[in-house]
Amino acid sequence: LSGSCLSFFKEQLPLQQYNSWIKPLIFEIDGEKLVLTAPNSFTLRIVQERFLPEISKRALPFFSSPPKIEFRVEKRGSKVSMDHTKDSTSTKPPLPAAKTAKNQNKLNSALVFDTFVTGKANQLAHAAAIQVAETPGVAYNPLFIYGGVGLGKTHLLQAIGNLVSKKNPQARICYIHATNYISGVVRAFQTKNFDEFKQFYNSLDLLLIDDIQFIADKPGTQQEFFYTLNSLIDTNKQVVITCDTFPKEITGIEPRLTSRFTCGLTVAIEPPGLEMRVAILLQKSATNGSPISEDVAFFIAKHVRSNIRELEGALNRIEAYARFHKRIISIELAKEALKDLLAAQNKQVSLENIQKTVADFYRIKIVDLLSKKRTRIIARPRQIAMCLARELTQLSLPEIGNAFGGRDHSTVLHACKTIESLRNSDSALNADFNLLNQTLRG
Ligand code: ADP
Ligand code: MG
Repeated sequence: LSGSCLSFFKEQLPLQQYNSWIKPLIFEIDGEKLVLTAPNSFTLRIVQERFLPEISKRALPFFSSPPKIEFRVEKRGSKVSMDHTKDSTSTKPPLPAAKTAKNQNKLNSALVFDTFVTGKANQLAHAAAIQVAETPGVAYNPLFIYGGVGLGKTHLLQAIGNLVSKKNPQARICYIHATNYISGVVRAFQTKNFDEFKQFYNSLDLLLIDDIQFIADKPGTQQEFFYTLNSLIDTNKQVVITCDTFPKEITGIEPRLTSRFTCGLTVAIEPPGLEMRVAILLQKSATNGSPISEDVAFFIAKHVRSNIRELEGALNRIEAYARFHKRIISIELAKEALKDLLAAQNKQVSLENIQKTVADFYRIKIVDLLSKKRTRIIARPRQIAMCLARELTQLSLPEIGNAFGGRDHSTVLHACKTIESLRNSDSALNADFNLLNQTLRG
């Protein structure tokens, strides 16, 4: 992200402006949030006034939905640059890479197999995770788990760590999010502490690395990770990797690395079906101490379809609402508590409407839009329509893919990324997209 923003503005702005306003910024991804740190409040204000729209646009491909942006002003001496360049001007030597990794990445003891509900959507990933946790380094190495946001990848990763740690308290385990791994590499560069960094990772018994897609377009990190991965696998130390897409679909990662990702076992986690969503709600509400009835669970599950994180969010909201009003949870109460969400759904643009509007706009037939035809004249509008469906409906990637002639979720994701990046480089396409978007939103 940092690289993408920096290189974009470097091209777009006079050098002096770039050096004054953009270069000193630190871009960090924190979950679904973009954290933007400026060296002082003045720079921050300028950035907010002048560069925010472009920064938001650049950030989009790194998130599943438009991210919230949090602004910070750097505390003195606490700068940790994400820039790989050697002339990086850190005022105070940051923490050694390995130490930070140890401190930052404790396992979360709440994320265990016992609380992980299984169903058709995740049973393969679950079974593989259990096997890896029971016989680390023996069964599949690496285990590569991929799937969309909020579907339980981190939960499974942590569950593996917790089980291995329970069975073997001496095991050296590291759970790390890829963005923290990247920061670790950068810090090792800055402090010239590469030996310590390498030694830390190479001495692990179990490396759990989350959301590996973030190392795309970071050649330094990729090289480092390639060595670590090989060294661990060669010595039968278990590595588990999660990612938002199928390994070969990640762009910006060296082929030698993606091919290494797939040399163990690759498993997908799919969005849960209705019954599984109900099972999750029943389990979570029971764990929370306020079990809901099946009727209520079905009601929620029918309306919240995107992922498990959203499902949890809806349940929490209902529980809080019931507590506040001192009422028991019923469908009626669930309706009231989820009022906004349900209203938003009613207002939602339908997929059919998107397909028809895009087809009309480009003067092509809807059947062609849904067909297997791959000529540019059809394929581009199809990608635009998919991207609009992603933005304007609550449908999941597989649901969108399905509605576009039975394509799979990675095709939809690829379409969205392609259109996002074209919107930055092709102003005519961007204008078309905005017009369609506005028309559909009414
Ligand atoms: P991801 O890493 O794929 O984005 P998470 O692992 O963070 O998703 O899951 C989102 C939330 O949903 C977490 O609170 C997690 O505990 C919960 N969750 C995900 N999958 C399951 C499951 N199969 N059973 C119970 N809870 C789940
Ligand atoms: Mg996750």
